[in-house]
Amino acid sequence: MKLTFIKQILFDADDTLWENNIYYIRATNDFLDLLVAKGLDREALQNEFDELELWVVKERGYGSHNFVYILEVLYERYQHLINYGDLKKIVERFEKHPREPKLFDGVIETLTQLKKDYQLYVLTKGDFKEQEQKIINAGIDKIVNGYFIVPEKEDEVYKQILLQNNWRAEETCMVGNSPKSDINPALRVGMYAIYIPYADTWKLDYEEIEPVEARFFQVEKFCDLIDYFS
Ligand SMILES: [Mg+2]
Repeated sequence: MKLTFIKQILFDADDTLWENNIYYIRATNDFLDLLVAKGLDREALQNEFDELELWVVKERGYGSHNFVYILEVLYERYQHLINYGDLKKIVERFEKHPREPKLFDGVIETLTQLKKDYQLYVLTKGDFKEQEQKIINAGIDKIVNGYFIVPEKEDEVYKQILLQNNWRAEETCMVGNSPKSDINPALRVGMYAIYIPYADTWKLDYEEIEPVEARFFQVEKFCDLIDYFS
């Protein structure tokens, strides 16, 4: 099936165009390892981390600096067990990732091909400067027609983008790895949606997909998108 009636395609960025959550998982595990080595229970620590993360996201929003803040709060709680130098090493390694986003296979080639027939946009949530830096550093800004960086990807945000750009929902397709932020809201506002599952999707970005049969599709890899477009 070809979605030839689609005029604009919106792409999620983190874990759709490039690796993202693995850096968060790695830094979390590295940090918890320090405490597990001191005899603390990993599961209890992970629960403590998850609880803190929920609170920080709600109060401070997304972005790598808010993640680092979580590590710093935990460091303060356990500083009698951790070297500040060890925390610093983990943070420094983590903070490298926005500077050199690691694109998934075939992203540039696929976008370049799609650009011939469709208007392409990035729609990503998070810290404006950080997301913009990643879009530019990955070279995506040179391919797409534009990008939207929003604090949260809810139904209302999708509706506003459609309205402000004079786009019809049934001529617009969202592509992403998050059921919660990309797929379900796009389907609810009447758009088409293509889901690219990602094994390490962030817990807070996951929920059950509520598929709308005629408007929901799934591909395995980014470059498989070509199968749905001319
Ligand atoms: Mg994503």
